[in-house]
Amino acid sequence: MSEVTVHSVMGRGYSSNVFLVEAEKDFLVDAGMGISNSIINTVEETSVDLDRIILTHRHVDHVGDAQELSEELRVPLYAPEKEAEALRSGDDQTVLGSNFGRKIPSLDVKTLDEDEYSNFQILHTPGHTEGSICLYHPEDKILLSGDTVFSHGSVGRTDLPTGDMKELTGSVEMLSELKVESLYPGHMSAVEKGGSDHIKKALDHLRIF
Ligand SMILES: [Zn+2]
Repeated sequence: MSEVTVHSVMGRGYSSNVFLVEAEKDFLVDAGMGISNSIINTVEETSVDLDRIILTHRHVDHVGDAQELSEELRVPLYAPEKEAEALRSGDDQTVLGSNFGRKIPSLDVKTLDEDEYSNFQILHTPGHTEGSICLYHPEDKILLSGDTVFSHGSVGRTDLPTGDMKELTGSVEMLSELKVESLYPGHMSAVEKGGSDHIKKALDHLRIF
């Protein structure tokens, strides 16, 4: 039996997907926007001992309900440094709250500065935003990829503030060298097998441009 279990709460509307990871420590990846009831239900049904919420990047569709979930579930929020800075300062220009009619107050987010957490490697994958991360479990070949790369050869947008196509290509190149079976992206469907093939397809698409 695998030591890691990932429960998916699929995004509805504009919301990102949110994942509940049961591992050495239990944690949520992203907080979504408008799907907090489903997230709380999933947490309660699995009776996990939640340790924290890790935000892959600053965008409102991933952090819209972060404050509410942090309070309801009594766990702290963490994000990689540049993303945490933007969220703490309530930088609407790059968090994009008003694009979705949401006012995101400055969030109480701690900086995720570890290289590893709960046996997942924290991979810095700039391109979609300057501080985006992915989480990778080498033993179980699991990748939680945020908005860097999706299933079926899609990648995150680079035309939003702090986005950079060249950096995204470098990040997807790095991810394509990992052995990935299960791919849990921030949008679109998750795949349980052959994740690496999806990432390589994404890299092929990027190289065309
Ligand atoms: Zn995004």
